Amino acid sequence: MGGGGPHVVVVGAGSTGAAIAHDLALRGFAVTVVERGEVGSGTTGRNHGLLHSGARYAVTDPVAARECIEENLILRKIMPEGLELNGGYFIALTPEDMDFRQTFLEGCEAAGIPTRELTKEQLLRMEPRLSPKILGGVMVPDGVFEPYRFCLSFLASAQARGARVLTYHEVEGVLVEGGRTRGVQVRDRIRGRELTITADAVVNAAGPWAAKVAATAGCRVPLILAPGVMIAVGVRYSHRVVNRLAPPGDGDIIVPQRFTSMIGTTSWTVQDADLIPIPPDHVERMMDAGEAFFPGFRRQPKRGVFAVARPLVGPEEDQAEGEGFERAVTRDFACKHHEAEGAAGLFSVTGGKTTTSRLMAEAVVDQVGRWLGFERPCQTRTEVLLPPRRFFTERVVS
Ligand SMILES: Cc1cc2nc3c(=O)[nH]c(=O)nc-3n(C[C@H](O)[C@H](O)[C@H](O)COP(=O)(O)OP(=O)(O)OC[C@H]3O[C@@H](n4cnc5c(N)ncnc54)[C@H](O)[C@@H]3O)c2cc1C
Repeated sequence: MGGGGPHVVVVGAGSTGAAIAHDLALRGFAVTVVERGEVGSGTTGRNHGLLHSGARYAVTDPVAARECIEENLILRKIMPEGLELNGGYFIALTPEDMDFRQTFLEGCEAAGIPTRELTKEQLLRMEPRLSPKILGGVMVPDGVFEPYRFCLSFLASAQARGARVLTYHEVEGVLVEGGRTRGVQVRDRIRGRELTITADAVVNAAGPWAAKVAATAGCRVPLILAPGVMIAVGVRYSHRVVNRLAPPGDGDIIVPQRFTSMIGTTSWTVQDADLIPIPPDHVERMMDAGEAFFPGFRRQPKRGVFAVARPLVGPEEDQAEGEGFERAVTRDFACKHHEAEGAAGLFSVTGGKTTTSRLMAEAVVDQVGRWLGFERPCQTRTEVLLPPRRFFTERVVS
């Protein structure tokens, strides 16, 4: 195992864990990633694939909006092979949407998101399959990523610096002795064997399962599990991402992904990230929302209907929650060191977006480095990532 610095175990190989592994390896830590399934098989692998410009949050969540545009611009430079830099529109379907335009433009300007207003005629020339009933719109620098490749790029780069990535290995417990984290107890799900991996620190990047992982060390991670339903149809309706020019709501984003269009999403809360039944009325709502943008959408055969939970940052204390409250929860992230709970050296990171995973990694690795007395400057803002396929050739066999 490379690195030469302290050994850190990262739990989870979603976009957060993958970005953390890369940052740690680049700063000289020895790294082991432990993932219970395939790379990106959690929330990341079933998300929308939208490289956010931040415009979706410009009015309601300005911190997240600013983080998204800054990370969007960084990712364009460091992940040249992983992104489709096609841009996106916010489109008005009703007079109320048109009224929202000024607030939206002001929010984008405050967050540093470039915009360009477009007339109905311009939009229809650029995207002829849009409904002729649209009223106008705004162009923003959205983009598209493929979640699996997004994670592989970070992991390939980490592996090239000696990181070990153990897929199909499940962390059954975080080991704590005398108030200090010593490593993890792991089950190899393919060979059916148990192993203990010792480490100087453990970073819990298990997404919606982060509370479960922390609980094995007697610690608490405040988390809200907020799933969303998404539907892929087998037609690419637009060249660019299409968003509704309105505050965040159901079915307000359609992402062109290869030859498909993916519409999402709804939002509600669940207690268990492994058990998310898809409410049939959510599917109907998504198809109606798609039809409003693209006539004929409703008749398209569905390629996939899926739901997965956002690991949103929850309150430290239990508090009363009304219906739909999770829509207002920030898309910002939180890093927690569990020292005060008797598990020094265990860090949990939650919230954020795939778009902001590099930033989340920078924040948590700064924290880990400070605590271990191994502080090195973060270099991930400029370090160009390896192509995703190098994950398979840079692999260290255990
Ligand atoms: C419907 C929906 C659409 C979204 N769309 C977008 C979008 O378009 N753009 C965007 O930027 N963001 C989007 N997001 C947000 C984004 O998907 C999440 O913020 C991000 O994927 C979280 O990544 P993660 O690595 O923290 O979690 P995950 O991807 O869930 O990764 C956690 C990993 O930990 C593993 N794990 C769990 N328990 C254990 C264990 N005991 N041992 C070992 N491994 C374990 C899991 O298998 C999983 O792979 C969307 C979210 C949702 C729900």
